[in-house]
Amino acid sequence: MTSRDLRSPGTTAEVGVSAPAAAPWPVIAKAPGTRPVRPNLDDYDRIRVTFSWEDAARELDGLPGGGLNIAHETVDRHAAGPRRDVVALRFVGTDLDVVDLTYTQLADATDRFANMLDDLGVRSGERVFALVGRIPALYIAALGTLKHGSVFCPLFSAFGPEPIRQRLAIGDGVALVTTPRLYERKVTGIREAVPTLRHVLVADVGDAAPPEGTVDLDRPLANASPAHRRRATAPDDLALLHFTSGTTGTPKGAMHVHGAVVAHHATARYALDLHSDDVYWCTADPGWVTGTSYGIVAPLAHGVTSIVDTGEFDAARWYRIVERLGVTVWYTAPTAIRRLMRAGADLAAEFDLSRLRFVASVGEPLNPEAVVWGASVLGRPIHDNWWQTETGAIMIANFAASPIRPGSMGRPVPGIDAAVVRVDRDMRPVITDGVPELIDASDVEGMLALRVGWPSMFRGYLHEPGRYARTFAGDWYLSGDLARRDADGWFWFVGRADDVIKSAGHLIGPFEVESVLLEHPAVAEVGVIGTPDPLAGEIVKAFVALNPGHEPGRQLQLELLGHARRRLGAAVAPRVIEFSTDLPKTRSGKIMRRLLKARELGLPEGDTSTLERL
Ligand code: ATP
Ligand code: MG
Repeated sequence: MTSRDLRSPGTTAEVGVSAPAAAPWPVIAKAPGTRPVRPNLDDYDRIRVTFSWEDAARELDGLPGGGLNIAHETVDRHAAGPRRDVVALRFVGTDLDVVDLTYTQLADATDRFANMLDDLGVRSGERVFALVGRIPALYIAALGTLKHGSVFCPLFSAFGPEPIRQRLAIGDGVALVTTPRLYERKVTGIREAVPTLRHVLVADVGDAAPPEGTVDLDRPLANASPAHRRRATAPDDLALLHFTSGTTGTPKGAMHVHGAVVAHHATARYALDLHSDDVYWCTADPGWVTGTSYGIVAPLAHGVTSIVDTGEFDAARWYRIVERLGVTVWYTAPTAIRRLMRAGADLAAEFDLSRLRFVASVGEPLNPEAVVWGASVLGRPIHDNWWQTETGAIMIANFAASPIRPGSMGRPVPGIDAAVVRVDRDMRPVITDGVPELIDASDVEGMLALRVGWPSMFRGYLHEPGRYARTFAGDWYLSGDLARRDADGWFWFVGRADDVIKSAGHLIGPFEVESVLLEHPAVAEVGVIGTPDPLAGEIVKAFVALNPGHEPGRQLQLELLGHARRRLGAAVAPRVIEFSTDLPKTRSGKIMRRLLKARELGLPEGDTSTLERL
């Protein structure tokens, strides 16, 4: 049982926690002979000891005089070498038709984009936004802006006008790259409210005239000099502004620097096991940090071919992409994996997925069943990894050559020290004289913390210096997530500090309950919250979405309650189960438990700018 007894004495809520909920999930060992290529992290312990960020930085070119620029490392250095004609980005259209950009073409296009920003008078450090689907213009704008030395801020193209206004205003956007359609539908009404916005450049205009107040991006690009001008950005210069997913509240603007590319490169090597001949597909949209860090920067830093699907999720289409485009490394999210599971193993069996070598997932806890499903249906177990917008890169991961303990996030990547910090009854980290109290013992829950100093650490929340400062104590960054570390150093996610449930003296992480309910064949998705109860303080309530072919009803409710009780015990199992056709999720696919709770209690919903609207 992972719950902790809150009735123990003392100011802190520490109590014995033992093994994960009676897990029927055996460790997935990896037989060395079955791997098609030698994993980059073939000896975890040895590489952790020998790794240094200085050495990792030496894997990149750098700029003369100690400078560093993400676009140079991801594009220009490949365009100047033997990989110049390799496809950098392969865009997949509706009918699986593809448009390719080689490293040379990408270098040329981003040179022009950077020079165009000069022509427009955009200064280094100013913010260039993009509100555009996953089309070439988005990637050229991102890398061209980084090359130029201004700061790139992607917006998810399905945002409505208000979230767009908020972010442009917070970020003091001076330029926006979008399309005529998105501009007319979403920006015209808010343009006046963003006085800093000097330039709106529209892509994919075709033969029509660009909307009033905008410029056809192709025109200034065509007029811009094609010359390659190297700009001297420093490792600590701001490069990216990324808004968080807004799962727990109003999204925060996390600022990242050019030096982050060192972490993107190193973590893609070790946690995603990228090799230079891989065909890699990250399914995340660059509107979220995964889609930028691992959909643009990391794969291109390795000079691989990165697949960009311009379409939306569709199980058969996704399998077809993996098959036809020969995807070898696939990075996706639990919500997508659960949708693939829902589509059934028979569908997967129709496709040849044999080129797939490594599958990874991020964004939400990955339930053990999904890991095991990957092994049997995709032929590869799914490697969960953990990180945040704030950390900029993968921090904790399951690695290609390591066994997987299903349900665990894995172990810290080389160069990262992770720890568990004691929390008080309100789930706040215990800090004495500025120093957080680290828990040495294994299997005790607390706040997941990271030792500061990794290259992709965020450098601020835009306009919120106080909030930024509060996330650090001593040498540690405090993540806001609760976790525990087992005796062998594997980390297990418990829940966000905001989401944990206190029931009859127990501390319950929603993930533990959700994972167990997800084992039941009827269950497709679950969100678990605590609801107030006069006796227990809170009781556990689960909102359950069903797989096709299963009917909601009293019978199923009792069955699920019985299953949860058997697996979790009465103290932790949900008391109430409510069937729901759709759980509220962020547009990046995370279940918004705070919204389930607000709705349950009839409270205001708060910021819903990132809520997925179906
Ligand atoms: P906000 O900070 O605005 O509430 P958010 O935390 O969801 O939104 P992101 O930075 O996109 O924004 O998400 C990071 C969070 O996602 C982590 O702090 C963690 O709670 C969750 N997460 C990411 N990966 C995993 C994982 N492998 N297992 C469990 N949780 C994960
Ligand atoms: Mg967060």
